[in-house]
Order: sequence, then structure tokens, then C-alpha cells
Amino acid sequence: MQNTSNQLPVLLEAKNLAKHYPVSQGFLKPKALAKALDGVSFQLTPGKTLAVVGESGCGKSTLARQITMIEAPSAGELWMDGKNIAHADNAMLKQVRPLVQMVFQNPYASLNPRKKVSAMLEEPLIINTRLSASEREEKARAMMTQVGLRPEHYSRYPHMFSGGQRQRIAIARALMLDPRVIVADEPVSALDVSFQAQVLNLLMDLQQQSGVAYLFISHNLSVVEHIANDVLVMYLGKTVEHGDKQSIFSRPLHPYTKALLASTPRIDPAQRQAKMMLPGELPSPLAPPPGCAFNNRCPHANEQCRQQIPVLRPFEGRMLACHRAEEIN
Ligand code: ADP
Ligand code: MG
Repeated sequence: MQNTSNQLPVLLEAKNLAKHYPVSQGFLKPKALAKALDGVSFQLTPGKTLAVVGESGCGKSTLARQITMIEAPSAGELWMDGKNIAHADNAMLKQVRPLVQMVFQNPYASLNPRKKVSAMLEEPLIINTRLSASEREEKARAMMTQVGLRPEHYSRYPHMFSGGQRQRIAIARALMLDPRVIVADEPVSALDVSFQAQVLNLLMDLQQQSGVAYLFISHNLSVVEHIANDVLVMYLGKTVEHGDKQSIFSRPLHPYTKALLASTPRIDPAQRQAKMMLPGELPSPLAPPPGCAFNNRCPHANEQCRQQIPVLRPFEGRMLACHRAEEIN
């Protein structure tokens, strides 16, 4: 696997992680399997960010739920601290869950409107530590300062904050237990553009200070351009391209990555390309097309693409799943 930070220890490793959901097809009909996540592998290292990108419905949030141990994967391994925690028992989950925290897309929905900031920030400490009330308050106020909130707003309710400030509260809460990994699922997608850069900068500052690793999920490639070290592009539950950010942004090799990049507005005018929209829609994971799942939208698809599933293989310093990589690049 390509990793820009090979010398760093691996914090968390996913190996062929899969989640298949049984879906009812109606009375007396056999259940179908929605392969929302279908064999994804990567490593997270301290102080680095892996961005996972792909269209809505490609399995990003499903991946997030496996990594944060909200769900147990159907197959594959999840390694942390030398242990495979994919099917950890409750005792082990209690140990490892605090190490992997989550920030959700919508800070309006993810923060309980009836709870003050103080309660939201202290709750993880009450559950997981033996700190006294005054120690908890001190830690919560210090964290508010760290994420750019005013500690005197400690007793306010979420509705008294703007969207950007609420996402800062959610980030503060995720950091309360000094996690080693934060999974951020579309953390700026619900924010006004003016707040997006601020929250991205905050996440990068916090990473520099704490060495936390991010799994940063976004449907928008331009959002990850500054924050990512590595990029993993997903299509219908599978990795299609995975490598370091510079290579992928400067020379995308998979037709899907190319289409995603071309349909993303770029901040740097030199990087802007002719706008190309992705034709068609992401197929359903209940009925993926045979062969390469992207074949029905790919301008380069041939017979082989319509019949054989491409394997993810090393290609030009990254991992790529495309039969035609040699001919089209
Ligand atoms: P993304 O976050 O990239 O938009 P999701 O992970 O939310 O994608 O969903 C991926 C696919 O898995 C979608 O087709 C979705 O309908 C399906 N899916 C997600 N959760 C479930 C579930 N609990 N049961 C059945 N299908 C699901
Ligand atoms: Mg999602």
C-alpha cells in the first residue's frame, strides 16, 4: 500500500474491510445483500490525514461506522495496538472505542439541543475517567479555548452558537479523551463556505498540536486538497485509486478519479480544467453491474471491463483498479 509516511508507526489498519447489509425484497422473497463496503484496506499514521472521497452512496459513512466501531464489519480486519478489533468483545471495545472518535456532518443534528456545552464536553470524561467535577470543568474550558471558542460560553446551549461554532463544539467533544484517530464524516459539508476554511484550518492546527490521525471523508475533492496527505477514492464500496495527494491531484489515473476531479471547482486557476460532468448515476449496491462497477459510465470501457472485476494493484506509485490503466494513461 502507498503511504506518504512509511516511517511512522501505523495507528490503525483496515484490511479488506467489508459491510454487507441484508435487505428485504418483499414478502417471501429471499433477502438481497447490499454490499455497501466491499473490501477496503488502508493504514492511518500519527499526525497524518487520509481523505476518503467518492459520490454520495459509495459507502463512505458505512466505512466510518466500521472504523469507529459503531457497527461490526461483515468481513475483514481492523488492527489497532497489535489487535484485530473487528469483532472485539465488550471489554475490548470499552478500551479501544475512546481512541477513535467521530465528528459528524451536521452539527445541528449531532449536538443535543437540550444539553449545555459544558455537559456535552464533560460527558465523555464522566463515562471514561475518574476526574473530579472541577478537573472536568477545567479540561472542558481549556478545550474550548483550544478550538477557538470562548470559555465563558461554557454554560450556553448549542442554539446560541453559529454553525461553524457548533462544529467547533463537536470537534472539542471528539478531542476530550485524547483520541488517536478522528473520523470526520463530511465535517464541513453543512457549513457556509465562509466557515469551511476556518474549520479545516482548525482541524489542521489541532492535528499539529496533538498528532491525531484523521480519516477525513468528503464527496468533494476540493475540500480535501489542503488537508489530506493521502487520498483513497471509493466507488460502490471498493477502492479504485489510493495514493499520496500530490500524485492523485496532479495526475489522476483512474477514469473515475479524473471525472471527479474534472467536475470539482478548483481554487487554483492553473489547475482548472474543462468542466466534465460524470454521466449517469452511481449504480445500486444491490445490483452492481458485472465486471468493473464503473464500466457503464466509463468512456474507456471495453469487453474485459464489462466482464471482469479489476483487482487493485500497484501502478505508478499508487494502488489502482483499472483494466485499461496502461492504455489510457
Ligand atoms: P455515503 O456515505 O458514501 O453516501 P453510505 O455508506 O451512506 O454512502 O451508503 C452506501 C450504500 O449502502 C448506499 O447504497 C446505502 O443505501 C446502503 N446502506 C447504508 N446503510 C445501510 C443499511 N443499514 N441497510 C441497507 N443498506 C444500507
Ligand atoms: Mg455519508
